Amino acid sequence: MEGKAHGAHVLALPYPTQGHINPMLQFSKRLASKGVKATLATTVFIYNSMQPPSSESVQFDTISDGHDEGGFAQAESIPSYLARMEAIGSKTLADIIIKNKDTAHPVDCIIYDPFLPWALEVAKKFGLVGAAFFTQTCAVNLIYYYVHHGLLKLPISSTPISIPGLPPLELQDMPSFVSVSGSYPAYFEMVLNQFSNTDKADWVLVNTFYKLEVEVVDSMSKVCPLLTIGPTIPSIYLDNRVENDNDYGLNLFTIDDLSVCTDWLNTKPAGSVVYVSFGSLAHLSNKQMEELAFGLKGSNFYFLWVVKASEGEKLPENFVEEMGHKGLVVKWSPQVEVLSSKGVGCFFTHGGWNSTLEALCLGVPMVVMPQWTDQPTNAKFVEDVWKVGVRVEVDENGVVGREEIESCIRKVMEGERGKEMKENAKKWSNLAIEAVSEDGTSDKNIEEFVSKLIKASP
Ligand code: UDP
Repeated sequence: MEGKAHGAHVLALPYPTQGHINPMLQFSKRLASKGVKATLATTVFIYNSMQPPSSESVQFDTISDGHDEGGFAQAESIPSYLARMEAIGSKTLADIIIKNKDTAHPVDCIIYDPFLPWALEVAKKFGLVGAAFFTQTCAVNLIYYYVHHGLLKLPISSTPISIPGLPPLELQDMPSFVSVSGSYPAYFEMVLNQFSNTDKADWVLVNTFYKLEVEVVDSMSKVCPLLTIGPTIPSIYLDNRVENDNDYGLNLFTIDDLSVCTDWLNTKPAGSVVYVSFGSLAHLSNKQMEELAFGLKGSNFYFLWVVKASEGEKLPENFVEEMGHKGLVVKWSPQVEVLSSKGVGCFFTHGGWNSTLEALCLGVPMVVMPQWTDQPTNAKFVEDVWKVGVRVEVDENGVVGREEIESCIRKVMEGERGKEMKENAKKWSNLAIEAVSEDGTSDKNIEEFVSKLIKASP
């Protein structure tokens, strides 16, 4: 069926941040490669920020979150942003459906981010198929499911926490919204509300792959039937298979020059560089930036560090000049290309799910310095379940000191344990390729989704 055109048209609606747009755009491309017409709807503000706002196989459209000029930064508070997005977003989402109604490709299905559960109500109002697309791990989703359904009572009174399918978890392994009571109540409500109507969704899709989370997927499937469809990383990065539309992301940040990072990496010996990035949202304290800078310097490895424009002033004075050829500091990188480079030996990451999955699938071991949300749980799995990295220890002042940073980098870059982590990462990378290759678990699930869609579409 590869590439064959038919009538089905999916409309994908990610939550408007980089880490939610990337996997949904990639999934849309995969559906397009299977002959489905795919449109990705972002907010007007995000659409105008995209670099570049184009893809060969996926069309774009816009909804409004009520902040067309400045996006989230313009909102008074998180709750007011979410409420306004629901009110204006559901109306403007309906407008896209109405606009397409009498065309050759009316919308058949809305693939929505469950951070925006109201999108399912819009789908149902128009009699469309509704598919929830979870951008975090099954493990994290299962924890939220348990809390939402009152199966895990908060605040947690005793540890280890035991949830079928998950390893015993300590408080520090839980998503921050669960372990730190009262933190970001609006986001906490949002992650729990993902399950407010999943029982009415026609599909629940998760960006993971079966062998990565066997017990968790089996356990969650009993309470919430789901399809694993990941990783959504394009084949060209996974196994050099060339597809039509290979660009990875829709960068919301400007990359100065696409080849700056890869050219620099190509001059370095294999496995000699520490790649450092904390994703699109995290902000580190001045002290933490300083410790990180001196930890990298102390390790004496080459490093490529993404310091977002908003973080630049926190770098120690003259650090970049002093490091000379040892380090390259950029404002944003083509991350998947960087992780695919032979020069990279270790990824120093915040443990966001996309970053973690990208590293796993490209065979790069990690040092994880989780900041918030699902990252602590991802760090637990990286270290203890997948055994592809180490998690940093935070000192009594809430900072990760330079010695700890240096020591964690050494554990991954050197010695027997480092070698084992590298081998494990390679193993996961092969299993990821298997999952998305023809007849792999994720590929079969995507085929099932597409074939039911075709049958349902007139
Ligand atoms: N990313 C990138 N360049 C960078 C840093 C991040 O392209 O310099 C991409 C990365 O590949 C990933 C996404 O941004 O797909 C970040 O998502 P993640 O879930 O890791 O973290 P978040 O930004 O949501 O905290």
